[in-house]
Amino acid sequence: MPTDRTILVTGGAGYIGSHTVLELLEAGHEVVAFDNLCNGSEEALHRVEQITGKSVTFLNGDIRDRKALDRLFGAHAIDAVVHFAGLKAVGESVNAPLAYYDNNVNGTVALCQAMAAAGVYKLIFSSSATVYGIEAPVPYQEAMSRGTTSNPYGTSKAMVEKVLEDLSQADERWRIGLLRYFNPIGAHPSGLIGEDPKGTPNNLMPYISQVAVGRLDQLSIFGNDYPTADGTCERDYLHVVDLSAGHVKALQCLEVPGVHAYNLGTGKGVSVLEMVKAFQRVTGQQVPYRFAPGRDGDLPAFWADPTKAERELGWQARHSLEDMMRDTWNWQSANPLGYDERNSTA
Ligand code: NAD
Ligand code: UDP
Repeated sequence: MPTDRTILVTGGAGYIGSHTVLELLEAGHEVVAFDNLCNGSEEALHRVEQITGKSVTFLNGDIRDRKALDRLFGAHAIDAVVHFAGLKAVGESVNAPLAYYDNNVNGTVALCQAMAAAGVYKLIFSSSATVYGIEAPVPYQEAMSRGTTSNPYGTSKAMVEKVLEDLSQADERWRIGLLRYFNPIGAHPSGLIGEDPKGTPNNLMPYISQVAVGRLDQLSIFGNDYPTADGTCERDYLHVVDLSAGHVKALQCLEVPGVHAYNLGTGKGVSVLEMVKAFQRVTGQQVPYRFAPGRDGDLPAFWADPTKAERELGWQARHSLEDMMRDTWNWQSANPLGYDERNSTA
């Protein structure tokens, strides 16, 4: 029986949230998932129940709604919170900064207020490699300070990290994990849950898989004259199942008061062209592409130093790039239109 039995997962109906709910259930936790479904799907949680044979309590609500949070904490004995809820589209954040600061920063403040009022002080926060900023040397290490972020999304993550550090300084009951994700891709090997972005994908992997499944015509590779081996950007892609398992492991860092930051990545950079080639090789599907101008704010290359998570949490990314490609296609080919049930074969 896990020490922290009942976990509140905000954003639990989203991509990483649904995979983490699954890992938490498998590890023996009870899960309450709270999501306003602005970018998630309740169907994802039904499928998690189908895969695990266990049930999830789902509550439709917004983290900025203090009354809804108070009702939740009143009705459920929550031991710890894993906090995914937020907006995540970098380009959109440039055009709609207030929506990002409101959801990501105000939402987290409201969540922490409700937690404190309910006497719950254990929190895992979904942060991002973006907080290292545009000038940080690679590989990124947790001991580096946060840098200059290049868009409101990244700034909102850095702001929340600072809010949580200040909170922990002010009240030593808080135990907080800041998990800095690199680039999560892939899907649960069952093919029943996966990434289902609303509208045209912003991220590389869903764009590739939607081209392969025929929803989009061709991939635009943003920039081919970066100072990298093949001229395209390099990122540290990790399997979403590994990332989700990292959250279960990270619950143990909450035994110690204070704020604990961990990189969750593989430690290896892979270029956009290598990603396209690996997808084609593993799945046998063609992905037509063209080179397009670089995207504003994109950094040429970054990857994690993941040794702190390995040393302190016993966590390591285990899946290969081939696994990530196979599982992405497994999900996308079985669910060409994602969780839209009318068109799903899952
Ligand atoms: P996602 O959009 O699939 O999941 C986020 C979920 O939160 C969605 O289900 C959405 O409906 C919900 N949500 C948003 N605002 C809410 C609100 N105000 N109240 C309640 N629910 C709300 O995104 P994801 O890829 O699963 O990302 C989860 C978290 O991880 C986010 O905080 C994101 O910023 C962070 N993150 C993601 C990546 C990535 O590449 N996917 C990288 C680094 C960090
Ligand atoms: N990318 C691309 N075409 C796309 C989407 C992304 O070439 O349609 C590139 C992008 O420039 C970056 C990499 O793929 O170098 C990963 O982008 P993504 O948006 O998935 O993640 P990011 O690292 O920007 O958070």
